Amino acid sequence: MSATSVKDPVCGMIIEPSKAAGHADYKGHTYYFCSASCKTKFDNDPEKYAGKSA
Ligand SMILES: [Zn+2]
Repeated sequence: MSATSVKDPVCGMIIEPSKAAGHADYKGHTYYFCSASCKTKFDNDPEKYAGKSA
């Protein structure tokens, strides 16, 4: 078994937080991203992506 994995809300990829390229805190939840470009997309429009994985 591996560590807890999380879903990149931008592209939907399942990743491990320890291997994420970046993360962002939004409305009390921490989101992890597979790449810097996914984080940039999230930062530009967090509500668009944060709602999907709730
Ligand atoms: Zn991604």
